[in-house]
Amino acid sequence: MYLRYLQSEKIEAVGQVAASLVHEVRNPLTTVLGFLKLIRQDQAMPPEKLHRFIDISIEEVKRTEAILSEYLSMSKPLTQKREVIDLAHELEAVAEVMTPYATMNNVSLILHVPSEPVRLSANRAEMKQLLVNFVKNAVEACSAIQKGNVTLRMHTDGLLVKVHIRDNGIGMNKEQLRRLGSIYYSTKNTGTGLGLTYSYQVIRSMNGTVSVFSELHKGTEFTLSLPLASKDPDG
Ligand code: ADP
Ligand code: MG
Repeated sequence: MYLRYLQSEKIEAVGQVAASLVHEVRNPLTTVLGFLKLIRQDQAMPPEKLHRFIDISIEEVKRTEAILSEYLSMSKPLTQKREVIDLAHELEAVAEVMTPYATMNNVSLILHVPSEPVRLSANRAEMKQLLVNFVKNAVEACSAIQKGNVTLRMHTDGLLVKVHIRDNGIGMNKEQLRRLGSIYYSTKNTGTGLGLTYSYQVIRSMNGTVSVFSELHKGTEFTLSLPLASKDPDG
């Protein structure tokens, strides 16, 4: 009985992933197909119109690509190779990668990291992916407001490193906070609801914790607490 239950739950989960993936990929495909048909029908289409249709189609194909790679990165097994990384450096790199996205959304990204290395035993790719997920959500939470700010802060606290990701965006109510991290929970049009589920899993696998403070229409602060690597590599 027990085994069967687990099995069917797993199949259901796979079915859900497939269903949402199909949904997310079908929309842009339909758009591109529509434009291609229009271009095919209207041989005398003015060049500006033609270019606009092609540009939109390129954007839609890029979006499909992004959705598929997001699914792929989430479906990779957790905790592959671990090594000692400098989290201050990784957060700087993530901020750099996310700056164009923030600018595009009219959001300022502010970074405060310690000047000395923050040593942590982690899988670098997983760590980067999870930081990107939090920063991306913070930027998206600010996208609808006038002066969006996302502040990334990091400091050590005893045997832990704390990473604060704060935004002054839309915030969340009690019910939204309660559902946070559940698989497929998303309030966005093109959201997957996989980002936080994945991030929480990675953090748990590192024996870390996450706390969230949020106020509707004021903003949100996520605090990640992760155990530092021991000073002595042999001890
Ligand atoms: P997605 O970003 O694809 O929606 P996530 O798992 O990354 O999926 O996030 C799930 C949901 O959690 C989001 O849709 C949003 O409602 C909420 N959320 C996450 N981070 C924030 C934030 N910084 N501010 C407000 N809401 C957030
Ligand atoms: Mg997200």
